[in-house]
Amino acid sequence: SERSLRSAIDGIPGLVGILAPNGDVETVNRQILEYCGQSLEELRDWRTNGTVHQEDLPHLAEVFTRSIASGIPYQLEHRLRRFDGRYRWFDNRGVPIRDASGHIVRWYVLLTDIEDRTQALARVQQMQSDFAHMNRVSVMGELAASLSHEITQPIASARNNARAAENFLKMQPPDLGEVREALACVVGDADRVGDIIDRIREQVKKAPPRKERFDLNAAINEVVALARSVTNRNGVSVQTRLAEGLSSVEGDRVQLQQVLLNLILNAAEAMSPVEEGARELLISTKEDQTGVVVAVRDSGPGIDPEHLERVFDAFYTTKPSGTGMGLSICRSIIDAHGGRLWAEANKPRGAVFQFTLPGTDAEFTNPLQASERI
Ligand code: ADP
Repeated sequence: SERSLRSAIDGIPGLVGILAPNGDVETVNRQILEYCGQSLEELRDWRTNGTVHQEDLPHLAEVFTRSIASGIPYQLEHRLRRFDGRYRWFDNRGVPIRDASGHIVRWYVLLTDIEDRTQALARVQQMQSDFAHMNRVSVMGELAASLSHEITQPIASARNNARAAENFLKMQPPDLGEVREALACVVGDADRVGDIIDRIREQVKKAPPRKERFDLNAAINEVVALARSVTNRNGVSVQTRLAEGLSSVEGDRVQLQQVLLNLILNAAEAMSPVEEGARELLISTKEDQTGVVVAVRDSGPGIDPEHLERVFDAFYTTKPSGTGMGLSICRSIIDAHGGRLWAEANKPRGAVFQFTLPGTDAEFTNPLQASERI
C-alpha cells in the first residue's frame, strides 16, 4: 500500500507531502525532491536547513505547531528554496486525515507555487500606491492657491506682531508686558504655518502604506482644517458631528485622510451651482457593530440614481478638467482597509458618501504579508 501511495502522489502534478500525526515528514513526492534538490532525509530538517526562507520560518513554525497540536487544517504563504538556491512564494496547505475513531493518522500537505501571482499582486499594489500618490499631489496642486493664502496670512500677522514688539521695546521705559504678548502671538502664527506645512508635506510625501492605530476624529479635524480655505472660498458651511469616544481605527492615516479630502473637495465642487447660503457639508462619524462609519453629506444636486455605482469607475467624470480617478482611488484605499465605500442620495437633497472601517482587530490587507487560516 505504501508503494501504491507513492506512485499515486508522484502522479500528482504538484508538490505533495505526507506527514506523521506529530508533524514529522513521512514522505514527499518526487516533485518536491526535484524542486528542492534535496533528499527526503534532508527535507526532514526543513526547520533548520534553509528550505523555508529565514524571514518566514518563525511564522510558519508557529502556525504549523499550533495546527498539528489542535488537529485543525492550516493555510499560509511562505517562500521555499528551489534547487538553484532561489526562493519562490508558495501557498502551503495541510489537512489531517482521520481514521474511523477520529484519530489523526497522517497529514496531507500541498504546496502551490504562487510566485507569479504574488509578483503580479505586488505590481498592482505598487501601481495603486503610485496612483494614490499622484492623486494626493494633484489634490494638493488644486489646493495650492488657497493654501498659499492660509500660509501668507499668518506670516503677515507674525511680521506685524514682531514690528509691534520692536515698537514696545523702543518705548521709554519699554513696555515688556506688551512685548511678551506680541511675541506670544508671533509664536502662535508660526505654529499655524508650521501645522499647515506639516499637513501638506504628509500628503505629498511618497511613503509605503502604513498600518498604525490612530484617532480617526482627530485625523478628520485635520483634513477639515486643510480644506477650510477651499470650503470658505466656495461659501460652504462645514459642520462636523464626530462621535465621542470613537474606537481608534487601524490603517494608513494619510491614505484615509486622502479619501476624506477627495470627498470634501468633490462635495464643495458639486455644490457650486447651489445658491450661496444653502451649501452645506456635514461630516459625521458613528460606531456600529461592524466598526466605524464615516459620512460626508452635501446639499448639492446629488447623483443620478443610475450613476451611484458608476461614479467609482476609473475615468468616469462629468467635469471638464476632471480625471475621474478620485473616487476609484478612494474605493481601493477603503477596500484595502477591509471597509466599504458607497454613495447614496442625501435627504432632502444632495449626495452622501459613506465608508466603513472594521474594528481594530480586523486584518489590513497586504498581499505580501504571509496570510494564515487555521
Ligand atoms: P473627478 O472629480 O475628477 O470627476 P471623481 O472620481 O472624484 O473624479 O468623481 C467622479 C464623478 O462623480 C464626478 O465627475 C461627479 O460627476 C461625481 N461626483 C463625485 N462626488 C459628487 C458629489 N458630492 N455630488 C455629485 N456628484 C459627485
